[in-house]
Amino acid sequence: MQMITVLGATGSIGVSTLDVIARHQDKYAIFALTAHTQIDKLAEQCLQFNPKFAVVGDAALAEQLQAMLRAGGSTTEAIYGVDALCKVSNDAAVDTVMAAIVGAAGLVPTLAAVHAGKKILLANKEALVMAGGLFMQAVADSGSLLLPIDSEHNAIFQCLPAGCGSSASASSNSGVEKLLLSASGGPFRGMTLEQMHGVTPDQACAHPNWSMGRKISVDSASLMNKGLELIEACWLFAVPEQSIEVVVHPQSIIHSLVQYSDGSVLAQLGNPDMRTPIAHALAWPQRIESGVANLNLFEIARLDFEKPDMQAFPCLAIARAAAQAGANAATILNAANEIAVQAFLDERIGFTQIADVVEQTLNSQVISEPESLEAVQESDNQARLYSSAYIKRLEK
Ligand code: NDP
Ligand code: MG
Repeated sequence: MQMITVLGATGSIGVSTLDVIARHQDKYAIFALTAHTQIDKLAEQCLQFNPKFAVVGDAALAEQLQAMLRAGGSTTEAIYGVDALCKVSNDAAVDTVMAAIVGAAGLVPTLAAVHAGKKILLANKEALVMAGGLFMQAVADSGSLLLPIDSEHNAIFQCLPAGCGSSASASSNSGVEKLLLSASGGPFRGMTLEQMHGVTPDQACAHPNWSMGRKISVDSASLMNKGLELIEACWLFAVPEQSIEVVVHPQSIIHSLVQYSDGSVLAQLGNPDMRTPIAHALAWPQRIESGVANLNLFEIARLDFEKPDMQAFPCLAIARAAAQAGANAATILNAANEIAVQAFLDERIGFTQIADVVEQTLNSQVISEPESLEAVQESDNQARLYSSAYIKRLEK
């Protein structure tokens, strides 16, 4: 029996994770489920999966949740705060942690799991983007097993030779020449920058192929998601950014590809449903049923590919430049993007201003190698302060 903590259980990835786990209750049991504010949803999940702990954002919510759980006859203990998130991530009883909190908030609990040598199923790409060097060093030091959930990285992991994924260099003797990162192009594919000026948060969140949380949906629309994924891939597979090419593939059937020196290109295909990478990582190196329908190639009939439009989607080039700059550039990029995306979702700035906020913030900050977690957090904080102030000026 594998004991699992799901960080961000009430989110899109969390719900898909629990859907897969519910199909295999003989193999997996839940140690803890966490949410930030959605206690109704969390209570329902607790009644179904009976975890030892349920974690929420603050004391008042924990009290309300505890009352709901008691009323439902559950023995789950409701606790709260970052320390509680860390406790359920590094507890000796836990084997596997699904890291599916959105944004920088996921870093500290995910690192707690890494330091404790847990098997980490990493959906929370922002944690790796903002603290890549420290994160991968911690993985190496603790011997924890890091498996990618992001569909593209999971696909690449599946297409790399055994032993090459998850923190082992893909270059050496393996013949790996290039990683080809699939991108759907998002809801605004084919539009010009001008045409995107007036788009609304709901339009940005209406992804053609994937149903996801609002933050990653906006990132997918701006292609910042692909930029974050580029940086994520550099860390996961120990390759330089020049070895990664973004391929727009609107059907989202090929989730990414690996090109080898002998001319072979390996791809992973499947219906766009996150339960496939989740099931893959949960059971790895075995395979389990995920609930995802079999791929019907005759129905799909065709697969298209195009280059990303770098004029219309400046976030991709900004992220690539941050990957090239290294040091704390990705920390700054991620922090500014989180602030800008929230401001867009709150309708304080326009969609096309997200790139502007991120670029200005990167230009304003000192680029230096963060030697500690505190240095990463300081850099993150400074970037948030700058971008928030910059957005205030834009609003005037
Ligand atoms: P959602 O917004 O749907 O869910 C986020 C989860 O994190 C919720 O459980 C939420 O709790 C919790 N949360 C939010 N803020 C905090 C906080 N400050 N402290 C603790 N918990 C918090 O996001 P997704 O599931 O879409 O994405 C999760 C991660 O997975 C992201 O990093 C995303 O980039 C990545 N990912 C997602 C994919 C997808 O298909 N959705 C695909 C690939 C990667 P509450 O519900 O209470 O607010
Ligand atoms: Mg992805």
